[in-house]
Amino acid sequence: TISMVAIDISGAMAAGTSTNGASHKVPGRVGDGPIVGSGSYVDGEVGGCGATGDGDVMMRFLPCYQAVENLRRGMAPQEAAEDVVRRMLRKYPTMQSGIVVVDSKGRHGGAASGWTFTYAFRGGDMDATEVVTVPPVAVAE
Ligand code: ASP
Repeated sequence: TISMVAIDISGAMAAGTSTNGASHKVPGRVGDGPIVGSGSYVDGEVGGCGATGDGDVMMRFLPCYQAVENLRRGMAPQEAAEDVVRRMLRKYPTMQSGIVVVDSKGRHGGAASGWTFTYAFRGGDMDATEVVTVPPVAVAE
């Protein structure tokens, strides 16, 4: 799965996700990628989100919609991402997820469950892409 969140020079934002369905290559399966709010979501006034992982769980939670709403309510990107991962883990404690969140100022953060997730970012005056490694969130006892 490839998710992207972009901000152009005028501040306009876009987000999108593409996936081959990983292990879920079921004929006719839509999956989470094209479901707005699940595989990705953006509101240019607030921020955007991209997701990978167990799409059959994620499309029940619309984690990217929730993450952007979390930004709107004042959370930082990483906090917004961790909140949506924890919401899903409460119902599906072994699920795999990877969530990246970017706010409209270009601040970013991520959260994951079930695996170590990585994302890359580049912007501003950076002359190279940086890779961020996101360990799985600790599950509460
Ligand atoms: N979310 C994708 C799916 O379930 C798989 C993935 O992210 O690797 O189709």
